[in-house]
Amino acid sequence: MDEKILNLKNQLSADLSEIKNLVDLDKIRVAYLGKKGSVTGLLKGMKDLSHEERKEFGKKVNQLKNAVANAIEEKTEALKKAEIQSEIASMPKFDITTPVDLTRGSYHPITLVQRQCEEIFRSMGFTVEDYSEVVTDYECFESLNIPKHHPARDMQDTYYLENGQLLKSQTSAAQNAILKKYGKNLIEKDIPIRAIFPGRCFRNEATDACHENTFFQMEGVMVDKDISISNLIYFMKTMLSQVFQKDIKVRLRPGFFPFVEPGFELDISCLICGGEGCASCKHSGWLELCPCGMIHPEVLKEGGIDSEKYTGFAFGLGLTRLAMMKYGIKDIRDLNSGSLKSLSQFTDDK
Ligand SMILES: [Zn+2]
Repeated sequence: MDEKILNLKNQLSADLSEIKNLVDLDKIRVAYLGKKGSVTGLLKGMKDLSHEERKEFGKKVNQLKNAVANAIEEKTEALKKAEIQSEIASMPKFDITTPVDLTRGSYHPITLVQRQCEEIFRSMGFTVEDYSEVVTDYECFESLNIPKHHPARDMQDTYYLENGQLLKSQTSAAQNAILKKYGKNLIEKDIPIRAIFPGRCFRNEATDACHENTFFQMEGVMVDKDISISNLIYFMKTMLSQVFQKDIKVRLRPGFFPFVEPGFELDISCLICGGEGCASCKHSGWLELCPCGMIHPEVLKEGGIDSEKYTGFAFGLGLTRLAMMKYGIKDIRDLNSGSLKSLSQFTDDK
């Protein structure tokens, strides 16, 4: 009997050394440990043994069983490791000496203009605020003196969401929140509210050379005692002359916006055609850049600010249009085209 056990052990190590994959290894497992396997088969000879011998033999067969199971387990691990090694070996090699394309990306012209404006306004004591693109009807319209069914809503073909919220159609949507955020400082500590909030706006516009459904604005507000239109003109002129690095011709036209009173349209002389008229300026020589005006008392009140005591101005600068003017971009659609060839030209202007 002992001889049989020894033979089986020797046979097993010979068989295992031949095995090259897990499928074949499983066959070996069945051949030794299965119901009809050779280890199980040893037990059949037990009936001819005495009680004592049987006890001894049973113990040895159990030891053999464990030894066989361990040997198969070890082989399984070894085969798995070998499989992973061969998979790694078959993967494409990474060659660190291969030359790489080191072309740098570039800032989008709107990002460049936005950062420049932020810097200019920061230097004049304004804070830069960030605001959500999905806002409520209250934020975008009602708090700005545009109640439901007000005809001024028709000027902005707005994208409404199923939950009643909307994609902001103007950066003014943040105005109420800013007034509430800084109103306390104004009232209690006499610190004027000075904030700009750049952001992306959305309107359902038919696109052409100067209209897009997605565009960038930068809203600005200043609220304090004795703020007047001359403060507004001063800040706008300072900003524009710094952005363009030269004196820019501007004009104020009366304009109607429910959240300002009086309201204006600030136009700048078209820098693409020098004021002679082109497609970008609809052949008028002027480009509408910025609706602005004195914040309507109702809007101040809605923001928790006493309109008898404080006044303020607000403007909604068209950042997209400003970028077009600064870089001589003739078609607004180029800005959202994703064409790296045309957009990367502005890389060096930091
Ligand atoms: Zn023009």
